[in-house]
Amino acid sequence: METSVETDDASPIPSSASLILVATPIGNLGDISPRACAALAEASAVLCEDTRVTSKLLARHSISATMLALHDHNEESEAPRLVARLLAGEKLALVSDAGTPLVSDPGYRLVRAAIAAGVPVSAIPGPNAAVMALTLSGLPPHPFMFHGFLPPKAVARAAEISRIAGMEAAGLSATLIFYESPHRTGEALAALAKGLGADRPAAVARELTKRFEEVRRGTLAELAALYSEQEPRGEVVLCVGPAPPPAAPTGVALDEALRAAMARLSLRDAAATVAEATGLPRKRVYARALELAAEE
Ligand code: SAM
Repeated sequence: METSVETDDASPIPSSASLILVATPIGNLGDISPRACAALAEASAVLCEDTRVTSKLLARHSISATMLALHDHNEESEAPRLVARLLAGEKLALVSDAGTPLVSDPGYRLVRAAIAAGVPVSAIPGPNAAVMALTLSGLPPHPFMFHGFLPPKAVARAAEISRIAGMEAAGLSATLIFYESPHRTGEALAALAKGLGADRPAAVARELTKRFEEVRRGTLAELAALYSEQEPRGEVVLCVGPAPPPAAPTGVALDEALRAAMARLSLRDAAATVAEATGLPRKRVYARALELAAEE
């Protein structure tokens, strides 16, 4: 007997209904889990970006499945039809051309629509170029900020990088991850060096899981120089190490921080708080706090 779950409007959803997001390889076709293969084989349809790409994967694993194209251009219009199929009890699998669906790939609008309709959504995890690049970069793995692609045009890209620089000035300290096309890698690295600092440690991860997999590490300036001369072959991920901690305030800036703290705390507590926040020696901050108190 088929069980069902109740939605908010009390119409039952067959328990068989589910949307399952299936991660697929990012290069090496062997990188797919048995559970992922089973989900693709069981689905009433596999929603994919490009049926030619997915059919190769399915053939390699002897999976026969009905494929339906779902990409940026038809996702909005197709979502209601697909949700209706899910509500009727179908199991649909969603893949992208490579890696984890939704990560710089289509699927977000369908997932939102399925969640809103009360359809169970699940995922079979697997390859993802951003996380693999991060783990190989030698840069601090967390916190990290995955940005996806920077704008392709120079002016918009510079504006986006300066927005990130603004977040860093406000305290963001995370390893940054970008997807980039090989022919823009040199200019993107140069723009990052200009906007975030030429000395920032960085890594370029190329052709992950493939025959010519490579990770180059260096400063943004070094990597920009390298890839401006020679365009990388294949797919790349750029990782940039976290912004350095802001320099400890001295002089006027230290006095301002101390005055602000002394306005709400005892002199001793104000000095301790400012020393803690700035990393400056407690004794030195306390001595300056005493001088400021005497002046006022
Ligand atoms: N959904 C995918 C994922 O989970 O990684 C990413 C899809 S996005 C459209 C494609 C971009 O991911 C490429 O331009 C490149 O920046 C990165 N990428 C994908 N496969 C890669 C690989 N094997 N090596 C390096 N970068 C890769």
